Amino acid sequence: MARTALVTGVTGQDGAYLSQLLLEKGYEVYGLVRRSSHSEVDDHRLRWLGIHDDVRIVDGNLTDLSSLIRVLREVKPDEIYNLGAQSFVKASWDQPIVTASVTANGVLNILEAARFEAPSARFYQASSSEMYGLIQEPMQSETTPFYPRSPYAVAKLYGHWITVNYRESFNMHASSGILFNHESPLRGLEFVTRKVTRTAAAIKLGLASKLEMGNLDAKRDWGHAKDYVRAMWLMLQQDKPDDYVVATGETHTVRHMIDVAFKRVDLNPDDYLSINPKFLRPAEVDVLLGDATKARNQLGWTPEISFEALISEMVEADLVRLRRTI
Ligand code: NDP
Ligand code: GDP
Repeated sequence: MARTALVTGVTGQDGAYLSQLLLEKGYEVYGLVRRSSHSEVDDHRLRWLGIHDDVRIVDGNLTDLSSLIRVLREVKPDEIYNLGAQSFVKASWDQPIVTASVTANGVLNILEAARFEAPSARFYQASSSEMYGLIQEPMQSETTPFYPRSPYAVAKLYGHWITVNYRESFNMHASSGILFNHESPLRGLEFVTRKVTRTAAAIKLGLASKLEMGNLDAKRDWGHAKDYVRAMWLMLQQDKPDDYVVATGETHTVRHMIDVAFKRVDLNPDDYLSINPKFLRPAEVDVLLGDATKARNQLGWTPEISFEALISEMVEADLVRLRRTI
């Protein structure tokens, strides 16, 4: 019989790629979608991957425990992937309480629902390298102390520790993936890579004329979402639940990422680039660099898509999408 998975955050970047992977593996995939003022489900990412008719949509909200209980009672999943979150760091200073209630308390809600309705389901929590914040070691691994630097990161830290606690308290198969930044053509437009690749494509097509940025010196360990969702699945296939860092082990400045994107369209970024203070943050994470040795050794996971190939694919996809609008 086909295994059943419930994916929260199914309309997001990782939800789309993970659903694609699970469908390819023969799972029945249910995606949790929260109601908004318009009745249509925002399934543009699922459509981009051609899987919008294959994912079964269920209504619920991570802030509403009773909706999660109902969904788990109906779906009875073998695996739960908790990807739903207020996921944008910058927005977490503008909406800290929403961020706490979805990104922190939402994890507790779904763990509680799982404890009562699906106690033998395997559980994945989408933790984040942002938890390292003001880094305490030059390369961050599962044993590096955390030092969160935003309301988002503080909320993620709660989600991480409550997952560990439910594993230890209730013997649940609950794993936490500490994923470093991962991008793709499906990344939200507000995140730095997608903002840059889309703007580079728009300038090339004569649809934009400037690129306004924040801190160009920040460094990130950027991987491809398609590689990273494979690590999520692998974690839930292990006999024992555990925590894993997922990263490439390479770090690049925002400035270098801009250079790579603009080179792809044969433009000089300095002709368009300026700094706008509105994109600076009250507290910054200067550098992230992950050590994924444990994931490599225990899960057999390695990333397959290089940084240059990732940025190139993103620029290419943005050119395709923007050409359709001309
Ligand atoms: P996205 O921002 O693309 O997707 C977030 C998803 O969460 C959306 O589907 C959104 O739904 C959903 N959501 C938001 N609030 C609620 C709620 N109250 N109830 C139910 N669903 C909700 O994120 P990504 O796909 O990039 O990331 C997936 C997860 O991994 C997130 O938890 C993120 O914080 C975490 N993460 C991401 C990293 C990255 O680099 N991408 C790095 C490390 C961790 P809607 O469409 O309705 O807004
Ligand atoms: P984050 O690591 O989850 O915060 O992912 P982002 O893609 O939002 O930001 C990555 C880094 O890029 C952060 O250090 C930001 O300060 C930096 N950055 C510089 N300019 C911008 C910008 O215009 N938008 C965003 N989102 N980030 C920027």
